[in-house]
Parts: sequence; C-alpha cells; structure tokens
Amino acid sequence: MSRTPTPAPAPSPDGLEAMLARALGKEAAGPATGAPAAEPEQQRCGYVAIVGKPNVGKSTLLNALVGQKVSITSRKAQTTRHRITGIRTVGAAQFIFVDTPGFQTRHGNALNRSLNKTVLGAVTDVDLILFVVEAGRFSLPDAKVLSLLPPNVPVVLLANKLDQVHRRGELAPWLRSMQERHPFAEYVPMSAKAAKDIERLFGICEKYLPQQPWIHDAEELTDRSERFMAAEMVREKLFRLTGDELPYTSTVVIDRFEEEGQLRRIAATIVVERDGHKGMVIGDKGEKLKRIGTEARTELERLWGGKVFLELWVKVRSGWADDDARVRSFGYE
Ligand code: GDP
Ligand code: MG
Repeated sequence: MSRTPTPAPAPSPDGLEAMLARALGKEAAGPATGAPAAEPEQQRCGYVAIVGKPNVGKSTLLNALVGQKVSITSRKAQTTRHRITGIRTVGAAQFIFVDTPGFQTRHGNALNRSLNKTVLGAVTDVDLILFVVEAGRFSLPDAKVLSLLPPNVPVVLLANKLDQVHRRGELAPWLRSMQERHPFAEYVPMSAKAAKDIERLFGICEKYLPQQPWIHDAEELTDRSERFMAAEMVREKLFRLTGDELPYTSTVVIDRFEEEGQLRRIAATIVVERDGHKGMVIGDKGEKLKRIGTEARTELERLWGGKVFLELWVKVRSGWADDDARVRSFGYE
C-alpha cells in the first residue's frame, strides 16, 4: 500500500462541543452513501483498523460499516479471532476495514499470543485507527490497548453505545478527560447500531484516507472466502447458543466445502477442549447441535442466496490452545 500521510487536524475544545452536538443529533447527518463513479485521480483508498478491548462493539461496527454481516458478534467476549477485512466504497472513498480480536491481557497461552500478534500486525500498516470504547467509560484494559497503538497513525476516539448513556451532560467532561489521554484526531460519540451515526462516521473518516485509486471494485464487501464465512457463522451460533458455558478456545474447522450449481455442501467440525464441553455443544438428544446447524445454515442461505447443506461434527482436542503447532494448524497466524 502506498502512503500519503494525511495531517490530522487537532480539534479545539470548541470542536469537541460541536462534535458532541453532532453526535447528539443536533445537526444533520453526513454524506449520502452509494457510490457514484469517481475519476481515479479523485479517488481515496485506505486501511482502517478497528481496535478496542473485547465487547465494546467492534464487530457490530464493522458489520454496520460494511452493511453486511462479515464479522461475528456475541455477548460473549473473545469470539473474533481472525483479522477480517470488510470493504465499503462511499462516494469517492474506499474504506478497507480491519477488525481485530481485542487485546487479550488475562491469559498468556499460545492462542492469546497469536491473537495479540494479529492485532499488532493489523494496526502498524493502516491509515487510520478507530479506537472503540464505551461512551463515558475508560478502564485499564482500554488503557492497555491505547498504549499499544503506533504514534504515527491518526486515531479516532469512537465512543460507542451512546444509546446507553442516559446522562448526556456527563459526556462533555468525559470527552475532555479523554483528550488528555491521547491526541485523538477526532472524538466521535455514537452508536454502532444507529444508521445515521454510521453514515456520519464515513464523512468524518474520509479525509484520512490517502488519495489513490481504489484497490477493490466498488461493490466488493470482503476479501474473505465463503469457506471462512461459513466457519465464522457456525462459530457465532455456537457461542450464542451455548451462552457463557463454553470456553472461547472452542473453534470451528471446515473439513469440506463443495459447490454444485446453487447448492453448497459444507462439512464442519466444532473442536472443543474437553469431553464435558462436547456435551454442552451437542445438548440433550442432540438438540443444541441441531439448532446451531439450522441457524447457521439459514443465515448462510440468506447471505449467499442459494441452498446450503451443512453437516456438523464435534471433536475433543484436549489442550490445543496451549500448543503452538496445533494453533497454527487451525489457521491462526
Ligand atoms: P466486540 O467484542 O468489540 O467485537 O463487540 P461486539 O460487536 O461483539 O458487541 C458486543 C455487544 O455489544 C453485543 O451484544 C452488541 O450487540 C452490543 N453493542 C454493540 N454496539 C452497540 C451499541 O451501539 N449500542 C448498544 N446498546 N449495544 C451495542
Ligand atoms: Mg468482535
């Protein structure tokens, strides 16, 4: 990727109030989305990393930005492991988004070391970083993530879940306190679940993308394979339907992926760490596993617009999260 460094204008305290006013809906939303063809010399294109501690809404944000489900979301922390890119072209600007798994600070095993490497790899070569926190909150894990960001890349403070802040008046002093923690390029209180906030965010981020021709087609949404999407979908249903019981070290491997016309035949294995976990996934008379399969299949069919035949297996692979070689064999970097 070629880089044209874009100067990051530092907002004045007045700018902060204006941002807050915009965020609270006192001003009109940003640019219209939809992509009128732009001349190559007017095009902007760049990489945007989405970072933050687990559960702040990174995957929700990415899906909203891309306008389609490319990353799984869950109430359970630690469900995103791969570096996922979503692509969205808005007007003359092409945003290539990088989702990250969140920094894992509690455990030091091989899997988590691999996760942290992926995160660091994702932020060193980007044009803009969206640092996601929950509006009005900032705790030690947030500070740890912030401390790992490279100093030469503009960082947007994305104060998410604004809809959950009931005392809006307390937000201005909080934003001011955030200004002391890092010279953020922008302060954006918003909700990843509000469509007009998402549009506004495109308008705010556009100027940080270097002027260069688009790398992808305007319609392209992800560079991930259908195979990968299938594994992500099963993983999302797995975590959603097992609640907090199942450790995040459980994973999904695609054993077979075949296309016959409009039909896709997929065989996948859910790999768990212990025998006890196997029971949780299978459920009473196989009920749970059946539901995971049905829900994943239904959503994949909607996504691809064709029939899906999905076969699920459960295997116990004890201790794999502590074994570097095994982690690699499952496709993590
Ligand atoms: P990640 O771990 O940072 O990727 O977080 P997720 O995207 O998986 O989201 C974690 C939880 O926060 C999910 O239950 C989301 O539905 C929820 N969430 C995300 N954004 C918002 C938001 O703007 N408002 C509210 N109320 N909830 C949100
Ligand atoms: Mg996530």
